[in-house]
Amino acid sequence: MGPNNPATFGLFLGSTVMKKLGHWIAGSVVESSTDRWGDIYDPATGIVQAQAPFATLGDIENVIMSARDALRQWGSSSLSKRTEVMFEFRHLVNANRDELASIITAEHGKVHSDALGEISRGLENIEYACGVASHLKGGFSSQVSSGVDVHSLRQPVGVVAAITPFNFPVMVPLWMTANALACGNTMVLKPSEKDPSASLYLAQLLKQAGLPDGVFNVLHGDGDVVGTLLEHPGIDAVSFVGSTPIARSIYTRATASGKRAQALGGAKNHMVVLPDADIDVAADGAVSAAYGSAGERCMAVSVVVAVGDAAEPIIDAIAQRLKVLKIGPGTDPQSEMGPLITREHRDKVASYVANAASEGATVVVDGREVTFDGDAANGFFLGASLLDHVTPSMKVYTDEIFGPVLGVVRVDTYQEAVDLINTNQYGNGVAIFTRDGGAARQFTLDVTVGMVGVNVPIPVPIASYSFGGWKDSLFGDTHMYGPAGIEFFTRSKIVTSRWPDPATSVVDLGFPKTR
Ligand code: NAD
Repeated sequence: MGPNNPATFGLFLGSTVMKKLGHWIAGSVVESSTDRWGDIYDPATGIVQAQAPFATLGDIENVIMSARDALRQWGSSSLSKRTEVMFEFRHLVNANRDELASIITAEHGKVHSDALGEISRGLENIEYACGVASHLKGGFSSQVSSGVDVHSLRQPVGVVAAITPFNFPVMVPLWMTANALACGNTMVLKPSEKDPSASLYLAQLLKQAGLPDGVFNVLHGDGDVVGTLLEHPGIDAVSFVGSTPIARSIYTRATASGKRAQALGGAKNHMVVLPDADIDVAADGAVSAAYGSAGERCMAVSVVVAVGDAAEPIIDAIAQRLKVLKIGPGTDPQSEMGPLITREHRDKVASYVANAASEGATVVVDGREVTFDGDAANGFFLGASLLDHVTPSMKVYTDEIFGPVLGVVRVDTYQEAVDLINTNQYGNGVAIFTRDGGAARQFTLDVTVGMVGVNVPIPVPIASYSFGGWKDSLFGDTHMYGPAGIEFFTRSKIVTSRWPDPATSVVDLGFPKTR
């Protein structure tokens, strides 16, 4: 059974002419009566393959009621029950990863192997959540005063709205879902309207894993739907990942409505190449991190900062590698890079390359010159571009392009590289390539960036750490997943208890003392 087979899990409702997705509410697919629909493209051909409903107010009330109804029972369920569901969910995602990857490729466009990669990073988060009994351990202090003990516990926050971007349709929802559910919350996931089917597939797997109906729900929609969720009193917390302007607005609006919120935003990730670096290793890293997933990663390297004599050799080595890069449909096992998400986005990315020369940059490799035949001619493809002599005032430097465009900024010293990074608006990821351990160590201390790689171009932390940028890459106090995820999805409570001997009980109006 393939992902497009309705019998697989009843994803599609409506006519056979245009596949229409339903919401996932209280454990089953629910058709929407909306008259607002979003097109879901196959980015490799440019054809509209399905439509997602943009939720009505009725859909929103329905989904929040489902999540609230399920909260009482799930929130007080035993940790062993939640762990059992997570173990089974982990097994099912792993067993169905090929089909899940095909769904990602069909709607996002990334190559199948890359889709499998994001699933494997998502699986890590489920594995971490399997240890929830350990993560939720509290503290206990005996005899803090005469006959008085204190213990701490963590309880679920409540109903969580999870709002996710298009670029990781499985991994980012799993960043949130695994810990949120394991901690006893219920969830309304609002996936990107551009590639929402993977979320419905995850919903089906969670049900198969034994998750009670209503604990996990999927609601489709756009910014207007999110706006209603942000203000709805039935939502207790908002976990968001997306672009910086939206992240900033989500954080402001959610917290103004009295909700706990975390909002991860966009990025401009620098990769510093020191003159002593192994140039081949650095060029492999730069090409992989800049053009993987067509540059549509929040941790993509978009700027190489070439220090001193590193400039000429690193630019040459990157350009050589771009000559042999295989670009094509994500379903073709030969393809290394697929199309972009939409035609509009592809054209916007191409416009940065078009303007680069007039801004004063040198276009070393122009991705617009790459041509595509057959079905791909109408797909949202763009070749890889490399720009040299980029300066901090150029739009190609200041903007998050989110496409296969890599700029090189030349600097004379290590300190100039650090200053460039630290004055940048974003602080998501950064990397340094060098053979000098002392310089690398100093770099990890000097940069105002949340995730640092030493000879590692995409330093996404494993699930037992947490993911999060600094500056305009994250709004809120808590990072995503790992220990920070447990913290975000729970409230702490401190219990002070005494079991007095009734014979010694007296009235005492003084403030409680411990000595
Ligand atoms: P986006 O901000 O356009 O959309 C993200 C989500 O917000 C979607 O679900 C969308 O429907 C919703 N949304 C769109 N407009 C809205 C509005 N006006 N009000 C409320 N909600 C709205 O992002 P995208 O294009 O889907 O994803 C790419 C962006 O996400 C990039 O900027 C990338 O860097 C960022 N991203 C960041 C991380 C991270 O961890 N920091 C991870 C992945 C992606």
